[in-house]
Amino acid sequence: MEDCVFCKIRKGEIPSTVLYKDEEMMIIKDINPKAKVHLIAIPNEHVPMIEMMTTEGCCELGKFMGKISHMQEELGLTNGYRLIINQGEHAGQTVGHVHVHILGGEQLKDF
Ligand code: 5GP
Ligand code: ZN
Repeated sequence: MEDCVFCKIRKGEIPSTVLYKDEEMMIIKDINPKAKVHLIAIPNEHVPMIEMMTTEGCCELGKFMGKISHMQEELGLTNGYRLIINQGEHAGQTVGHVHVHILGGEQLKDF
């Protein structure tokens, strides 16, 4: 998608700190961290909302969670982490490209 910030990051048109990249997804540092470690896992495919994803796309998201769980140490997520998907206005979604927030690196507040 032309004007999507995450697609631009994937194409290298906007600089970012990329911690992991493969043929299906990338993990970058969030530009405005809400925790000591705040990363975003972004599928390569541009889909604005979960409800627009195919069943396969949803399965891919599940696979990403599995990958993240195997990268805990290298991502600085010892002692646990939190995964969040903001979906729509009430959740505060600001980028219309499905992504998973990864928060950790410290004791997170209850919510
Ligand atoms: P949302 O609010 O849609 O769930 O999450 C979007 C996230 O993308 C926000 O936490 C925001 O800080 C992050 N973000 C927005 N623009 C950029 C950018 O240009 N670079 C990086 N690394 N993160 C961004
Ligand atoms: Zn996009």
